[in-house]
Amino acid sequence: MLDVIIVGGGPAGMSAALTLGRAQRTVLLLDSGEGRNAAADAVHNFITHDGTPPQTLRDLGHENLRHYPTVRTAAIAADSVRRLSDDHFEVGLADGELVESRRLLLATGLRDELPDLQGVEALWGKSAFHCPYCHGFEASGSRIAVLGAAPDRVRLALHLSRFTEDIVLCTGGASLEPVMQSVLEANGVAVHCSPLARLEHEGTLLRRIAFDDGSSIDRDAVFIKTTLRQRADFAERLGCDGFPDGCIEVNEFAQTSVAGVYAAGDMARRATVPIPLAAVVAAAASGTVAGSVIDQDLVGVDFKLPNPFASGRA
Ligand SMILES: Cc1cc2nc3c(=O)[nH]c(=O)nc-3n(C[C@H](O)[C@H](O)[C@H](O)COP(=O)(O)OP(=O)(O)OC[C@H]3O[C@@H](n4cnc5c(N)ncnc54)[C@H](O)[C@@H]3O)c2cc1C
Repeated sequence: MLDVIIVGGGPAGMSAALTLGRAQRTVLLLDSGEGRNAAADAVHNFITHDGTPPQTLRDLGHENLRHYPTVRTAAIAADSVRRLSDDHFEVGLADGELVESRRLLLATGLRDELPDLQGVEALWGKSAFHCPYCHGFEASGSRIAVLGAAPDRVRLALHLSRFTEDIVLCTGGASLEPVMQSVLEANGVAVHCSPLARLEHEGTLLRRIAFDDGSSIDRDAVFIKTTLRQRADFAERLGCDGFPDGCIEVNEFAQTSVAGVYAAGDMARRATVPIPLAAVVAAAASGTVAGSVIDQDLVGVDFKLPNPFASGRA
């Protein structure tokens, strides 16, 4: 029986494995190798690693983990998860092997469902972005478009107007409240209301946005809204509470509503956080918290001591 099985080996899962390895816990870290930012050339906004390719960061993580003999990593997907008791979990691997542990940490991340728009797939992570903190700086001074008409799109267009003088909000056929239109225009954001036809590109470089009415505008970068989905449904299957947007609810100690089940990284957030705040360094930090809290949980059980984090959930 292992101390902990971690499902998901992105920044959250690897950081938790590091903490648990340093605590000399027996850990199995399972990873199917589909990190959320895999399409991007570089990880930004991570102090000491700004500009590092995502795969390099993962390789560095594995290099760190090799130092800890109680941590085993496996490049394989988990297929099933069963909670046999508060202290006993069984995880089925894609090759049919069954592994057991005292605690379970889910760090399976989210995936981005792209909008149904010709060209967007080829550009994702290269010229089509979702996050101003990950990609805004690199798009500075270029010709930017934001797609959509919802209030959060208007807000993003205004936000990005600080990065460039050439920015347009493409509403995709929707009309905007006159007051919104005036605020955008007063801040140098042009508005284009024709329905979208496609993103025209050469390889991974955006060239222009074409509209149904035959017009087009030359652009270098486009900010889109993706639909976030859990990459795996284990938390849901185990009965963990979640939010209407599909994110799993945890407290500040990475505890889900189900005893013994922890969650970290993009897939989970606290109720006080209104929307997912996804970042590599934040995912890594939540993995560190989860690793420490799980270790303290096991110290409590083994030495019959109170768990200092028991006040949280389940
Ligand atoms: C295009 C793009 C660019 C980004 N750029 C940046 C950036 O520059 N800076 C930044 O800070 N953030 C960036 N982000 C956000 C960042 O990618 C995430 O916040 C971060 O990856 C979350 O880490 P995580 O460990 O929670 O999940 P992930 O990194 O997604 O890792 C989850 C892991 O779990 C594995 N997994 C899933 N299901 C299973 C299963 N059944 N069995 C085994 N393993 C499984 C997956 O294969 C994956 O490796 C970007 C996101 C996107 C979409």
